[in-house]
Amino acid sequence: GERMKFCPECGAPVELRQPPDDNRERHICTVCTTIHYQNPKLIVGAIPEWEDGRILLCRRAIEPRHGLWTLPAGFMENGETTPEAAARETLEEANAQVQIGDLYSMYNIPYINQVYLLFRARLLNLGFSPGVESLEVELFAENDIPWDKLAFRAVSLTLKDYFADRHAGSYQFHIGDLLAPISHTSTSR
Ligand code: ZN
Repeated sequence: GERMKFCPECGAPVELRQPPDDNRERHICTVCTTIHYQNPKLIVGAIPEWEDGRILLCRRAIEPRHGLWTLPAGFMENGETTPEAAARETLEEANAQVQIGDLYSMYNIPYINQVYLLFRARLLNLGFSPGVESLEVELFAENDIPWDKLAFRAVSLTLKDYFADRHAGSYQFHIGDLLAPISHTSTSR
């Protein structure tokens, strides 16, 4: 989780220690004693498909992975459902209107405390354009997917499964775990 310095409740410094009856360290306020738990974040997105089978991808205008392509996806907000989050992210990043369908893939990424949820989605019209977080948005046929310029492993794995399922004739839910990339020197992080 992220390193917390001050208590969001009262503004006093927090310390990192293990509460009684817990099994890991937490940020605990030194004044009001509130225990600030940190939990994984959900990244929710869509696989927008046009009626001719092409998939809508966005080229990122922001870090990380500036300039690389991805499915529209982002951090879920409080007060929304996961399909609502997928539709909102698609609207924000691609100004694209979609009908969200079945949940298609879930990737656990424990080393960065994230979970990806990607939904199948029907692109409702061709009135899309880059949102502020995108350099360009474009429809790609399977043979044109920029595989070596995709931003995230969860996205490339999802797209590979998606096209394999399409060829097999039925879409199945996929779940997987992504481990930290292997480091070849003990000093790199
Ligand atoms: Zn406090």
